[in-house]
Amino acid sequence: MDVTIIGGGVCGLALAHELAPDHHVTVLEASPGPRGGGYMIDFFGPGFVAAERMGVIEELRSRGHAFEGVRYGLPDGTQSGTLDVAPLVKAAGGRYFSILRPEVELGLLAQLPDSVDLRYGKRVLDVRDAGPQHAAVDMGGGEVLESDLVVACDGVRSPAREHVAPGHGAIIPMGYRVASYLFEDAPFARELGERMLMTDTAQRIGWLYAADAQRVGVMLAERLDPSDARRPTADPERLQAVYAGLHPQIDEALTRAPDSFYDDLGAQSWAPRWSRGRIALAGDAAHAPSLLAGQGTSLAIAGAEALARSLRAAGPHVEVGLAEYERRWRTTAERTRRSGRLSASAFIPENRMQVRLQQIGRRAIGLPGVSRLLTRRFLAA
Ligand SMILES: Cc1cc2nc3c(=O)[nH]c(=O)nc-3n(C[C@H](O)[C@H](O)[C@H](O)COP(=O)(O)OP(=O)(O)OC[C@H]3O[C@@H](n4cnc5c(N)ncnc54)[C@H](O)[C@@H]3O)c2cc1C
Repeated sequence: MDVTIIGGGVCGLALAHELAPDHHVTVLEASPGPRGGGYMIDFFGPGFVAAERMGVIEELRSRGHAFEGVRYGLPDGTQSGTLDVAPLVKAAGGRYFSILRPEVELGLLAQLPDSVDLRYGKRVLDVRDAGPQHAAVDMGGGEVLESDLVVACDGVRSPAREHVAPGHGAIIPMGYRVASYLFEDAPFARELGERMLMTDTAQRIGWLYAADAQRVGVMLAERLDPSDARRPTADPERLQAVYAGLHPQIDEALTRAPDSFYDDLGAQSWAPRWSRGRIALAGDAAHAPSLLAGQGTSLAIAGAEALARSLRAAGPHVEVGLAEYERRWRTTAERTRRSGRLSASAFIPENRMQVRLQQIGRRAIGLPGVSRLLTRRFLAA
């Protein structure tokens, strides 16, 4: 059948990869090329298993990175503790690595079958039913594409969610805002070495890491009023004003912010159903868990693979495949979403007391029994 995928991000490319052997697949991506922005994610869990099944795990692993762990830094530049990643890697049986979000996209692109019709610079303006067994996307200027199935993989703000599940189109803000960017500086990357820096601060936190030998990655997050759902605008001067003083190395990185970078609310999406007729939702459009150890990306790949598997099993019975996708996949997506909600409040400490409690908690992680328990819980999230 003809399948149109809206969005050529991680989810859209993973789905196209899996559907291409059986279907004629078109991917419509609004940006003019692969999107470079984003942050370092931990890749493990359902996404790792799905990438193994898809045969792309080695491609992704070759683009990944193995950090030693995290060092926690105070505003005066001193270190308040460390956390090693080795117990996590061991508990996951080695199925764990770190990778830049854009590298996941590039890795999937490198493995994309030639038969996929990937069109950059194509922004979908509207999606609608086109009879009982067809759906159409409208790109404006009279450009309409009709197909047997349309899957919206266009991120947490997908307008298709309102169409599929009326009343559930809005995002659910989690009470924080995240900015991230990369900049070239080989000496700085060397100075950072194999440990990420994370600031031990309240209300605002910063991460810094060597993305590779040449580039430094920055991620900054601040607490916000959760009722504020307005989409932020990236502004390097605002970053300087809000995040100055977290740590001397973060101050240095703030002076290197580009004019344009990822800057958005930490938000979830939820819908009681993921398809209506021949229009379906996948990835963040269906179930964004919000920033939680990069689980959004892992979940987007795994959800896309689950959808493709269900459609494959259902053959010509597309509606049966869509229902099976939901039955098979919702439990995992919901569990990750719940754990995203729980971790949201702990993500950025509210005050000095919470910072202190986290420091004590980190020391406890060094104890053998606690370490094993927490590692298992983290991997199960
Ligand atoms: C550039 C970028 C940087 C990111 N950085 C971070 C980060 O620092 N922290 C974080 O927590 N999450 C970040 N994310 C989100 C993260 O990538 C997702 O949570 C996760 O990978 C799930 O992927 P997805 O494919 O479902 O959604 P997304 O990664 O959001 O991909 C959606 C894709 O759809 C495209 N699209 C949107 N609307 C349309 C339209 N109307 N027509 C055609 N195409 C459309 C977008 O351009 C994008 O490529 C980032 C996403 C992007 C695109």
